Amino acid sequence: MSTLFLVGNVDRVRVKELFVRYRDVFDRTVEVEDVRSLFDRLYSDRLAACALEASEAAEDRWNYEEGVSLVVLESRAEVEPQVLDEMFRNFLPVFNLVSVCQDVDLKHLQKILERLPSEQVECCDRIRRMAHWMYYCPSKGCSSRIYSMVEQLQRVRRKGRRSIPGLIKNIDFNKLMVIPSELNRENYWRLLCTWAFQPHTLTTRELLYCAFILLQKLSADAGLVIPDNQLLLLLFTLEASYHQVNKFHNFKHAVDVMQATWQLCEHIVDDPMQTLLLSMAAIGHDIGHPGSNNMLLSKFGAPVARIYNEESVLENIHKDFFQELLSTHWQELLTISSSSKAHPNYDVISETILATDMALHADYVEKLKIIPKIADTNTLTSLIIKAADISNVTRPLEISAQWSCLITLEFNDCTLLQQHEENVVSRECNDDDESIHSDDEIYRCISNVRLLSPDDLVAKYPCIPRGQIFFIDTFAEQFFQELCEKIPHLEFLIENIRTNKKFWLEKLRTSPSKHN
Ligand SMILES: [Zn+2]
Repeated sequence: MSTLFLVGNVDRVRVKELFVRYRDVFDRTVEVEDVRSLFDRLYSDRLAACALEASEAAEDRWNYEEGVSLVVLESRAEVEPQVLDEMFRNFLPVFNLVSVCQDVDLKHLQKILERLPSEQVECCDRIRRMAHWMYYCPSKGCSSRIYSMVEQLQRVRRKGRRSIPGLIKNIDFNKLMVIPSELNRENYWRLLCTWAFQPHTLTTRELLYCAFILLQKLSADAGLVIPDNQLLLLLFTLEASYHQVNKFHNFKHAVDVMQATWQLCEHIVDDPMQTLLLSMAAIGHDIGHPGSNNMLLSKFGAPVARIYNEESVLENIHKDFFQELLSTHWQELLTISSSSKAHPNYDVISETILATDMALHADYVEKLKIIPKIADTNTLTSLIIKAADISNVTRPLEISAQWSCLITLEFNDCTLLQQHEENVVSRECNDDDESIHSDDEIYRCISNVRLLSPDDLVAKYPCIPRGQIFFIDTFAEQFFQELCEKIPHLEFLIENIRTNKKFWLEKLRTSPSKHN
């Protein structure tokens, strides 16, 4: 899944010479007129890469995460390769892209090309790819073209506000969106306005559009208008900071949690600015998520775990990545987020993102039990985003079941990752494992318009009911019970949980195998 891009007037003879030994490393060659067209192409490929838009063949998914792509620039190109690489890192963070000039020093090119074949293999394998994101440790003189969390964190932590290059700023994102005309704004708005929000049938393009119209409204309500193209660039950058290849923790989950947060705010928050801040925190709350968890980061020595002293590692990463993104794309909002008069040292967006760490969940439940009512705004905002983050079990059964399947698939990947790190099972053996293929197959089904019914999902994945009961019993029921007692408007949440729980219990009871 890797592309060789030729940008501008690249000397074809020279390219042939350069790549004579490495032609097979790339799956395709794409020629574009200039750097601007290159970005257009990257963005539109990414939009079209989701299973809903691409054809059945995985070969058509150009998400730039399942391969390393190389960009060759013409002599005296409008931007230097290093500058272009910096733009890739800042605006398309999870893409595996590297650029060179056609007059590149041969030794330098050789160094890149020699490692490409093994890097291609690495990022085609979803477990090794995850391992790289999490555990890769950059050393001097030897860099990888594959995305890693620690390298992104190092970039984010480098001081200084980034400006947006004119080349990126001038992209007409509205034009890139091309929303099907039969589905107008009102249609999407209707989808957003209900607790039965169903993002599984939406493409990346449509998810971006939903996020766009919702944030457009919320920012107008809050009196903090952001130009359309600026908001779209922010959202495209955010989408390109989530791993599209993750089964659960991807941009779909981000949009879903934002929609839930906003819906909850509609019931309980009066201040439109607070609603905007919380909704923004929600869409950014899992940015850069590797599809695993804090335990796996710490257990096998991820460099990022050390950086945060093994405390709320992922949540700190999401917070820092998102702060940096906002400082580039919407500094005004970031300033407002941290300038509450009542709590001068409290940054709403950062604090609510940190509150999503499930390790703190029991503390929140305890707190809810003790306090007679939720009077403190900071507690309320944290509770809202937490509720939204685990709201899958409070959605109507048909929708809840889709999420339960996706999280099951992601947990399976975590198990495989753990085995991979423990070297218990070699990947060579696993490649023949039927379950791996069926995972991808069901993922394709679930991210397709043809949704599976809860019954069919359970038939395919018998472990789902037990997982759902465990989650509801351990985390959700008590939390939502306490929350709904304090805020009776939210009673529908606990009602849905009970309906869903009943269904899963019945499934368990009638399950042919009691030990799944
Ligand atoms: Zn989340």
